[in-house]
Amino acid sequence: MPDLSTTGLHDLAASIAADARHLIGGNLQKGTVHADVSAPWDRRLKVSYTQTGLDDLAAAVSAAHTARQGGRWHRSQARNCLLTLADLLAAEQDVFIGLICFENGKLELAARGEVLGAIAGLRYWAEQAPSESVVTRTEARLTRLTRDPLGVVAAITPFNMPLLMMVNKIGAALAAGNTVVCKPSPDTPLSALHFARLAAGAVPAGVLNILAGGPETGPALTASPEVSMVSFTGSIETGKAIMAAAAPTMKRLQLELGGNDPAIVCRDANVSDVAVNIFRSAFGSAGQACVAVKRVYVHEDLHDELAEELAALSARAVPGRPFSEDATMPALTTRRQLDHLRWLAEDSRKRGGKFIHTGAIDDTVGNFASPSIVTGLTDGAPLVDGEQFSPILPLVPFSDVDPVVDNVNAGRFGLGATVWTEDTERADRIAERLETGMIWVNALPHPDPTVPFGGARESGLGREGGQGGLDEFTEVKCTTFNSKEAQR
Ligand code: NAD
Repeated sequence: MPDLSTTGLHDLAASIAADARHLIGGNLQKGTVHADVSAPWDRRLKVSYTQTGLDDLAAAVSAAHTARQGGRWHRSQARNCLLTLADLLAAEQDVFIGLICFENGKLELAARGEVLGAIAGLRYWAEQAPSESVVTRTEARLTRLTRDPLGVVAAITPFNMPLLMMVNKIGAALAAGNTVVCKPSPDTPLSALHFARLAAGAVPAGVLNILAGGPETGPALTASPEVSMVSFTGSIETGKAIMAAAAPTMKRLQLELGGNDPAIVCRDANVSDVAVNIFRSAFGSAGQACVAVKRVYVHEDLHDELAEELAALSARAVPGRPFSEDATMPALTTRRQLDHLRWLAEDSRKRGGKFIHTGAIDDTVGNFASPSIVTGLTDGAPLVDGEQFSPILPLVPFSDVDPVVDNVNAGRFGLGATVWTEDTERADRIAERLETGMIWVNALPHPDPTVPFGGARESGLGREGGQGGLDEFTEVKCTTFNSKEAQR
C-alpha cells in the first residue's frame, strides 16, 4: 500500500523527479532543461525534474532506427521483454499508483485500476503476433500475406492515462517488431520516466526510448523522417497537426482522439440505474476520460426525473485529494480544464441553460470542481456539441430517437455511445444506426486490450487493441510463388 498522505506522495514524487532519467539508446540520461510538475490537488506541492532538448530527441530516434536495422530486433524477442516489464511493473505497482495520484490527481482506486490495466496490457501484448495467412492457393500460384514491422514508432500520450496509454502503445509496437520512442504529456511525465528505469534493464538498447521534453518535442518527433508511424492519443486539434506533420513522409497513423459520447436514454429505461451509471461515467474521473458520458439525450417523459436523480447524486459528490476517504471524484489535472469549465458554464448560462445543479469551483489550493447538471440547451451549444473534459453535463430531451441518432451522426465526434433501454431489439436498432466506434448497451466502458478501441470521424483513425490494433503496427507484404515454387 503506498503512503498516500500529502507528505508521502510529495516525498515519493520529489525523489523520483530529482533523479528522473530519460531512456535514450539504452542509457538512462538526465535532461538539461529545468521543469516542474505540481500536484493538481495541491498546487503548492511542486517537484522539479529535467526535460530533454531536441538533441536528445534526435539521439533517441536515431537509436531506435539503428536498433531495428540488420534484424537486430525481431518481434520474437518481444514476448520475454514484455513479460519482464509486466513483472517489474507489478513489483513496483505502489510506486506507480503514488506517482499517478501525485501528478494526475486520480483517486487511489482509479490509479490502482490504471496500473493493473497496464500490467494486464503488457501480458496481453506479450502473447500476440501479427496475423499472417495464405490468401490464394491455386494450381498456378500461391500468395502468402505476411506483415513487416514499420520501423520506428512514435508513441505520444495524453495526461489523463499517463501509464496505461503509453504501455499499450509499447506493447503493440514491440509485439509487431518495431522500435519505439515514447513522449509522455508534460503535465504527467513522472510515471513514464519511472517506467523508463524499468525498461532500461528489460529491453535491448535503442529498442525502447522514453523521454519527456517540452512543447517542441512532439512536433519534432512527428516531423522526423526516421519515424515511420505515429501512435497518438490526445485531442482532435493535436491529432490534426500530427496528420499534417506525417504527410510529407506518409507516416502511418493511429489516432485516438477526443470524444463527445452521448448517452441515449429511452422511455423504458430504469431511471435510478441509469442515473447511477451515467453519473459514474460522467463524473467518476471528473469528466477526464475520452469515453466518459459527455451529453445525455433522454426521452422527454424521463427528463425531469433523471435530472433530479443526477442533481441529487451531484449534491453528494465530493471532489478531493487522492487519499481523502470522503473524496468521490478527483481534481482536474490542469488549470486549462478549469478555465474551459468556467467558460462553458458562463456560455451555457448566456444561452438560457438551466443549472439543475451548480457545481462549486474551488481553485484556491487545487483544481477542484463539483458536478454541474444543465438542461435547456440544444445541439449547437458548445456544451452539447463539444468535449468538456470536466464535470459539467448537459441533458437534452427528445420525443423521437431517430433525429437524435441523425444529430450524433452528423457531428464531428464518433468515439463511443451508450444506449439505455430494457428493449434489446430497440437497442440493437439504435446501435446499428449509430456511427461511432464503440457502443455499450446498458453498460459502461471498461478497459479490455482484446477489444478494438477507437472512433469514427474526427474522433480518430484506426483502432488500438485486439488483432486489428496490432496489425496496424505492420505493413502488409504479399509474396506470390508460381506453381512449382508453391509445391515445394
Ligand atoms: P493534447 O492533444 O493536448 O496532448 C496530447 C499529447 O500530445 C501530449 O503529450 C502533448 O505534449 C502532445 N502534443 C501537443 N501538441 C503536439 C504536436 N503539435 N505534435 C505532437 N505532439 C503534440 O491532449 P491532452 O489534453 O493531453 O489529453 C486530453 C485529450 O485526449 C482529450 O481530447 C481526450 O478525449 C483525448 N483522449 C483520447 C483517448 C482515446 O483513446 N480516444 C484517450 C484518452 C484521451
